[in-house]
Amino acid sequence: MVDLDSLVLVLVTDVNLPMEKVDVLIIGGGPAGTSAALSLLNYTNLSVWIVEQSDLNRLRVGEHVSSSIFNLLDYLKIPKEDLEPESIMPTYGTTSYWGSPHPAHNHSIFTHEGATYQLDRAKFDLKLVEQVAQRGGEVFPRTKCLNFTQQENKEWHVTLQHAEKGVFEINAQYLVDATGRQIHVGRSLGLPLQKMDNLMGIGMFFQLTDQAQKSALQILEAAELGWWYAALLPDNKLVATFFTDADIIAAQKLTQPHKWQALLQNTQHIKHKLANAHLMAQKPWVRNAATHILDVAKQERFLAVGDAICAFDPISSMGIGFAITSAFQAARCIQAQLLNNVPQALSAYNQDILSIFDQYLKIRQQYYQQEKRWPDSVFWQRRQALETEEVAL
Ligand SMILES: Cc1cc2nc3c(=O)[nH]c(=O)nc-3n(C[C@H](O)[C@H](O)[C@H](O)COP(=O)(O)OP(=O)(O)OC[C@H]3O[C@@H](n4cnc5c(N)ncnc54)[C@H](O)[C@@H]3O)c2cc1C
Repeated sequence: MVDLDSLVLVLVTDVNLPMEKVDVLIIGGGPAGTSAALSLLNYTNLSVWIVEQSDLNRLRVGEHVSSSIFNLLDYLKIPKEDLEPESIMPTYGTTSYWGSPHPAHNHSIFTHEGATYQLDRAKFDLKLVEQVAQRGGEVFPRTKCLNFTQQENKEWHVTLQHAEKGVFEINAQYLVDATGRQIHVGRSLGLPLQKMDNLMGIGMFFQLTDQAQKSALQILEAAELGWWYAALLPDNKLVATFFTDADIIAAQKLTQPHKWQALLQNTQHIKHKLANAHLMAQKPWVRNAATHILDVAKQERFLAVGDAICAFDPISSMGIGFAITSAFQAARCIQAQLLNNVPQALSAYNQDILSIFDQYLKIRQQYYQQEKRWPDSVFWQRRQALETEEVAL
């Protein structure tokens, strides 16, 4: 295990409490926030701070990426060899029971053909944070953003609170929301947000005891109330997640461990893959997995990246790749606005996001259309109705 705390402590000792000025203040230290920071640090002279509310030790989910992850890391100037071997591993394909009880074998869904990879998110995210700190960015873990106001000169005045060091303030030329599905800044600013569903993921991690189970690969299994995803992760771990709507989780009481386990035991295939694996926690974790898009076109000196601007159904495996590429585009946009005085860069960024999102909606709809085995299930009825939706920001 990486000792996350030791890194956090090193970073925290760097906190400077007096009033400071920074060019770009990024709220959120996930893949989107750190990639935006690294792009700015690598390709501009702008100063960058990242404020992260957690100690980075929080359980992180979402791990399946295409092989293009290595090109993205190249752009961030992180050589493949710099990743710890346990933080990324190849997957050998996906078996899906989707639209039929018979298995379909694919390399991946919606991603390039060929090898795909599973990340250890804690290690991967930490690597990116480490790189930001090493390249001159300031990282403030365990720090909350209490308040932000835009002044007449368009600069942001932001009040922050560190868990132990207390409240401090900063002026930033540019503010970036990288808070993931919380959209902390975008929501507080009241920007237009279109939420398209109430999908949630409820899952548990397992430790594998039987090496033979390594053939478990990646499995998707549709069920009456939603769909299951199970995958082998680095360090002989497995994750099993059930995706369904928030109201179904509540009605079925799936946060209760025995209810979640009972649902797992109802699967046709996934339960067999987990037969020799030990649960690593008592209770399932629950995460928002809803689709949304945020409109940032009208707010000056502000943009959002990753899940904060556009969040995808995990069936697409698009989240992490998009988080990183949107950060590249965002960094270019900030550079164009702050250094090259190109104000229209923001609306170009917003348009790009909108067209990616439009494409994604079509693919999502096509994918869900393939499953027609449960016409009376509310979950699947909602997915069949997806075709009538349109993005109207
Ligand atoms: C169950 C599930 C499974 C998924 N599976 C996959 C998959 O297989 N492949 C894939 O590509 N994607 C997957 N995703 C999506 C993927 O996890 C996200 O797209 C990705 O993490 C987005 O990165 P991000 O940096 O935008 O947001 P996040 O990773 O959510 O990071 C946001 C950061 O901001 C911090 N933060 C939040 N609020 C504040 C605040 N107010 N102040 C300071 N910091 C704050 C958080 O602590 C966090 O560190 C999955 C998602 C879910 C829910």
